[in-house]
Amino acid sequence: MPTADESRCNGCKLCIKSCPICHASSVSISSKNIPLAFAAVASDYDIRKTASSGGVFPLLTRHTISLGGTVYGAQFDEHFMVSHARCETWQECQALFGSKYTQSDLGRSYANIKSDLGSGRAVLFAGTPCQVAGLHAYLGINHKLKEKLFCCDFLCHGVPSGRTWQRYLQWREKEADSPASDISFRSKQNGWKNYSILINFQNEQQYLCSYKKDPFLRIFLADVSLRECCYNCRFRSLNHLADLTLADFWGIWKIYPDLDDDNGASLVLCHTDKGKELMHNLGGDCELRQVELKPALKYNRGALQKLSRPWGRTSFFDDLDALPIDKLFQWYRHKSFWRNILCRGDEMTKKLRHRSILKS
Ligand SMILES: Cc1cc2nc3c(=O)[nH]c(=O)nc-3n(C[C@H](O)[C@H](O)[C@H](O)COP(=O)(O)OP(=O)(O)OC[C@H]3O[C@@H](n4cnc5c(N)ncnc54)[C@H](O)[C@@H]3O)c2cc1C
Repeated sequence: MPTADESRCNGCKLCIKSCPICHASSVSISSKNIPLAFAAVASDYDIRKTASSGGVFPLLTRHTISLGGTVYGAQFDEHFMVSHARCETWQECQALFGSKYTQSDLGRSYANIKSDLGSGRAVLFAGTPCQVAGLHAYLGINHKLKEKLFCCDFLCHGVPSGRTWQRYLQWREKEADSPASDISFRSKQNGWKNYSILINFQNEQQYLCSYKKDPFLRIFLADVSLRECCYNCRFRSLNHLADLTLADFWGIWKIYPDLDDDNGASLVLCHTDKGKELMHNLGGDCELRQVELKPALKYNRGALQKLSRPWGRTSFFDDLDALPIDKLFQWYRHKSFWRNILCRGDEMTKKLRHRSILKS
């Protein structure tokens, strides 16, 4: 969660005024915006392999670097927590590819982007819809400054908290008796549709598990481990501030079966002329086909509807540091009427819940 260094705060409240979450009016989005939709698949298989969907983001980074621009996106740090990095070369950009299912710390990205734009460089920023909105609020209405800014976000299911990811990874590392050396949340080893979490450990062990079974991904997809602000997200709609919104093209097998080789396909929503121009520039590097919006979104509707906050969300975070993580994740991934009752929060149900979790 954002915090202010009170010792340096002069009380101007600019941080609150420019926050797209605290102050919806700090950024305005037209609700009349109907984006153009495309199916996109990078022609280079190696590029697609490193990305979560059809590899559009890597192509956008390559294009930006070729213009002499800078790219900002999410990468792992040495402890596999996630933060935004500034990249100037194609080599550096490799670390940005692939979805990371935990909050990315923006650090000084907004200030660095302002400085890059000020010196006339093109900038590609990729992040969650709220991070893109935050950037626009930070830069204000200076259109001249934003001329060479390109933003892409994604249809966002919601973002798991960093604490959940940290606890989960500690558990896996303990099980393997080794620190992790490499992680992918979206390995395509068992196919794109049956994507898996892949953790390589320094002692050469490997953990590979489908999203259907892995406890971290199950809890994420059941909405239990998301950050609090995600349950009240105003960007779960087609109205985004980004030039492009990227997504998995679930359902491509019904619309363009010939584009589905189970190695990933992207759905791209173009919101602005800049977005259309960007996609036009990728023309030679990917298979690009326009699609109708409604059928294209049929299998991704979840990311556009308001999230309801699960009963167990509060108790899950209460229990996170108190109980063995393996039992905790197993218990919360299963929903039932009785489990909901045990998540109510009073001392009596808490005791019963803890007993039930420890016995499971
Ligand atoms: C938390 C999260 C939830 C998502 N939910 C959905 C969904 O419900 N439906 C759907 O269709 N697609 C969703 N996506 C997007 C999807 O997984 C792909 O990232 C997207 O389609 C782009 O894929 P790509 O192949 O073009 O490039 P990729 O190389 O996969 O794109 C990666 C880029 O996405 C950005 N990114 C990755 N992780 C984070 C992060 N934690 N915070 C901020 N930015 C990040 C980065 O800048 C990164 O470099 C989600 C992604 C994330 C990170």
